Amino acid sequence: MALAMAMRRAAALGARHILAACASPSSRVVPRCHMSADAGAAMEKIRAAGLLRTQGLIGGQWVDAYDGRTIEVQNPATGEVLANVSCMGSRETSDAIASAHSTFYSWSKLTASERSKALRKWYDLIISHKEELALLMTLEQGKPMKEALGEVNYGASFIEYFAEEAKRIYGDIIPQSLSDRRLLVLKQPVGVVGAITPWNFPLAMITRKVGPALACGCTVVVKPSEFTPLTALAAADLALQAGIPAGTLNVVMGNAPEIGDALLQSTQVRKITFTGSTAVGKKLMAGSANTVKKVSLELGGNAPCIVFDDADIDVAVKGSLAAKFRNSGQTCVCANRILVQEGIYEKFASAFVMAVQSLQVGNGLEESTSQGPLINEAAVQKVEKFINDATSKGANIMLGGKRHSLGMTFYEPTIVGNVSNDMLLFREEVFGPVAPLVPFKTEEEAIHMANDTNAGLAAYIFTKSIPRSWRVSEALEYGLVGVNEGLISTEVAPFGGVKQSGLGREGSKYGVDEYLELKYICMGNLN
Ligand code: NAP
Repeated sequence: MALAMAMRRAAALGARHILAACASPSSRVVPRCHMSADAGAAMEKIRAAGLLRTQGLIGGQWVDAYDGRTIEVQNPATGEVLANVSCMGSRETSDAIASAHSTFYSWSKLTASERSKALRKWYDLIISHKEELALLMTLEQGKPMKEALGEVNYGASFIEYFAEEAKRIYGDIIPQSLSDRRLLVLKQPVGVVGAITPWNFPLAMITRKVGPALACGCTVVVKPSEFTPLTALAAADLALQAGIPAGTLNVVMGNAPEIGDALLQSTQVRKITFTGSTAVGKKLMAGSANTVKKVSLELGGNAPCIVFDDADIDVAVKGSLAAKFRNSGQTCVCANRILVQEGIYEKFASAFVMAVQSLQVGNGLEESTSQGPLINEAAVQKVEKFINDATSKGANIMLGGKRHSLGMTFYEPTIVGNVSNDMLLFREEVFGPVAPLVPFKTEEEAIHMANDTNAGLAAYIFTKSIPRSWRVSEALEYGLVGVNEGLISTEVAPFGGVKQSGLGREGSKYGVDEYLELKYICMGNLN
């Protein structure tokens, strides 16, 4: 436990990526005895289903780190150690790449229908283990069970969707420019994919990448976040059970920069797909240049949520609440700035305060909980820094504004009034349960404020005017816009950002393009 706390502290101080954070081989135990009754029962259920995996997956084999090191996975709600997982680095990653590379030929040569069937089976297994996967997610990430179950459905939907889409990857025949020629376009899998994912959606950020990659005939090396590897490993176990061949899907976790460098340096890895912070995304993009890899990036946001005078107040409150407080504010599409027109500001603010007051903070395993803890101490300190910055510049706390009495990394759902564009709360992603209210006068001003950022992922508007819905949606420099709706992600629509929020799209029919190369074939002398 002392080691757990020391590592948590190291994490809080930002020293996450040093191998020293990995424990020595002797500490490799799954400590059943230190767990609370609820967590212990949940872990037993997961263990009984055979889904408590702690080793990496390379070439269909569950393997320890080659030096035996491990890393602790902790429950952010309690600090208890859930498991010790393999702490891997460059050697294991190189082997995972080699395994994905040697499997690529056979996987890509299967018919689309065969790949589709395997994916469909994986989907069925995820759905039939919904509860165990949701429990794992709540335990290692902190989100309430209801949200975790929602994420299992959402995550599984990408596997189901791309199982279907696998059969619809058509090429083209182009009308020829010379009569003795025929011009064809083939769509072929890009090759081995390196997929690096964050902790806030431990399942869905993986399936949104792996689903289309496998559907296209690519093979994958996944690196989940060190905070949430258990869900990823359980999902990979289900993939093996579904008959997805050994080596097609590999999982390594541990030393992020080492794993990242191994993926970047390999000429066998032809594509990097990343979801996470903008800072790491930029590093991966730069690192991909040397081997000219295809890159897709789903990065941070700074979502404006614009409430106009003519909005339906109930719809606006409900939508803003959902857009802001899901996963305790830890999503890339969370409303980061709620811009409210002056004529409705007071009315909206008091209705919003009432709604936010009803949120129940607690351990995600408790049924009444709607707000779990933040992922770690560093996340809470970031929220505190942003709140201090705002209040020192004239903003007022309307609700919350401090750590929750539950301790650990729980933070009170917070509303801050009169936020302006010189404050961190306006300029950067807070990634916590803090809703900044920013007053504005005109539509033009709202659009200007909304676009006054380098981010461009999600934006929301609330208005009853149809012309305004169109005008503002078109003027917003964002990849996703919700009109009178706060929850807009779905497997059937393209997800992704513009500006520094990323490159490429995930989900939908557009999502497969990220894993395909076009090949033009000119057949000549046909007369
Ligand atoms: P992060 O620190 O960038 O981590 C994301 C992943 O990158 C983790 O697996 C991490 O590993 C890994 N990583 C860190 N440094 C690396 C390096 N040098 N080389 C290779 N991999 C490296 O982001 P996060 O804190 O987990 O996630 C929060 C961020 O993700 C927010 O900014 C959020 O907006 C963004 N996000 C975006 C989307 C989207 O679709 N646009 C969706 C969800 C989240 P370790 O965890 O093991 O260190």
